[in-house]
Amino acid sequence: MYNQTIINNLKRIQQRIEQACINTNRNPNEVRLLLATKTVAPDGIKTALEQGTSLLGENKVQELKQKYEALSSIPHEKHFIGHLQTNKIKEVLKYGVTCIQSLDRESLAEKLQQRLLLENKTIDVFIQVNTSNEHSKFGIAPEHALTFANYLSNFDKIRIKGLMTIGLFSSDEHQVRACFKLLKKTQLTLLQANIPNISPKELSMGMSGDLEIAIEEGATIVRVGTAIFGKRMYPDSYYWNETI
Ligand SMILES: *Cc1c(COP(=O)(O)O)cnc(C)c1O
Repeated sequence: MYNQTIINNLKRIQQRIEQACINTNRNPNEVRLLLATKTVAPDGIKTALEQGTSLLGENKVQELKQKYEALSSIPHEKHFIGHLQTNKIKEVLKYGVTCIQSLDRESLAEKLQQRLLLENKTIDVFIQVNTSNEHSKFGIAPEHALTFANYLSNFDKIRIKGLMTIGLFSSDEHQVRACFKLLKKTQLTLLQANIPNISPKELSMGMSGDLEIAIEEGATIVRVGTAIFGKRMYPDSYYWNETI
């Protein structure tokens, strides 16, 4: 039952992505679906992966760890999309994360570079940008993104591949769109600056409720949870701020 629901929901999401691409003359191949799998058990995640999706994102190191074994038999790519504490870097690397989408501060970049040097590894990252100007959300302020990117260019183990944002939660489409436009604008600023080793081509933005707007504004990755796996038990604030 639950698995069939996931399959149906997934089809519906793929149709929404496709339709949004058609509406804006974009090639659907340019937009990747990331399964936002927080709180979802391995069985449900497997069902979605078996339908031909290949990218998932976790918010908590604990969940990465818990699901690692169960998912190891099915090929997929794993991104980290939650707030990352520096003392968890080691585990994120250990449990197969190939991209950290939530790089949002200097201290994290510094510790990440140190650890990567030790392990002789490199990793892809996105800079998380706070486009909604809400204090409850993590991310670099858009006006500081260029300074931050310049700083990151010193770290040769960290490859900046894109920018990530969580849009404003609002029924006012105009305000939501403004967030995505701001991420795009920030990307252009960084691209024009031609910073060595930094090429933020990807824009990770758009979720269950606003993925069409994000695609219209240039998203290359949309992160979808609820619309595929159903409602979660905890409010998103549980994942997005540090109070808990
Ligand atoms: C949970 C989460 C999503 C998915 O949100 P839904 O509204 O469930 O689609 C996307 N991005 C991040 C960072 C998340 O934590």
